[in-house]
Amino acid sequence: MIEIKTLRAASNSALPKRIPYTSPQQTHTATVRRGKPSPVEATLRTGVSAKIIPFILMHIACIAIFFVGISLPAVLLCIGLYMVRMFALTAGYHRYFAHRAFKTSRFFQFVLAVVGTTAVQKGPLWWAAHHRKHHKYTDQEGDLHSPVTDGFWWSHIGWVISKKYDPTDLKGIKDFARYPELRWINKYHLIPVIALAVLCFVLGGWQWLVWGFVVSTVLLYHGTFSVNSLAHMWGSRRYATGDESRNNFLIALWTGGEGWHNNHHHYMASVKQGFYWWEIDFSYYALKMMSWMRLVWDLRLPPEQLLAGATAS
Ligand SMILES: [Zn+2]
Ligand SMILES: [Zn+2]
Repeated sequence: MIEIKTLRAASNSALPKRIPYTSPQQTHTATVRRGKPSPVEATLRTGVSAKIIPFILMHIACIAIFFVGISLPAVLLCIGLYMVRMFALTAGYHRYFAHRAFKTSRFFQFVLAVVGTTAVQKGPLWWAAHHRKHHKYTDQEGDLHSPVTDGFWWSHIGWVISKKYDPTDLKGIKDFARYPELRWINKYHLIPVIALAVLCFVLGGWQWLVWGFVVSTVLLYHGTFSVNSLAHMWGSRRYATGDESRNNFLIALWTGGEGWHNNHHHYMASVKQGFYWWEIDFSYYALKMMSWMRLVWDLRLPPEQLLAGATAS
């Protein structure tokens, strides 16, 4: 057990030290006693970010599917852009920028960053710095989006529209903040977003804009957010990670492998989150193929002793 703990700690040496865990029951009792506000109250107290406006408008704009009609190319574009951007988020923003699970060139790191911004979830430094905090305080006081401490809606959407988390914590991502091009794209993250929307419109009119950009982006929001909310509530636990992370096949399907979230909290530096062959992980398969083309290399895998350390029910 000590050996496994040492391995996990060593694997995450680039990240801040994890805060010792208090059980969810203890945390819950403590927070209830202090009169923790509901997610809506908490959002209002922390202030609502200006980004709530485009966020709501994107959801309302989905109604436009009834006016623009449907076609096979439009649906394929919707699915295609979902998959490409989900890959940029999971392989790029998450596994590379937040966890350094593989290595790549400075050029391809920038490509991952630019494609990632088109997912409309802000810049890579913002995303990865916040995510590192989630691992530092998982499911206890200080976690930005825990359904255990703050409920489903806060972990799914509340924290995203809260003003409190608008700034980028550059100190939490110093290793990548030293690249000026990454700081630039992090600041001007809306440029690729607008470019993608315009491109969809120019190539396919309103129908491609609505299906390819609007609907695809809203699905992408909730696909990604489900890892923060549902993957800490719904599924099985293989490892005693000291938090409520879960493994869930369905979430893994729609997030390109991110649903193996208990595995991920067990060994966050791993490039693959599906530890076994039956744990489908499309992002890992794509990264593996990219490694054959030398676009990425030094893919980090979990040590055998650590895989065997299944202790949770
Ligand atoms: Zn998590
Ligand atoms: Zn992570």
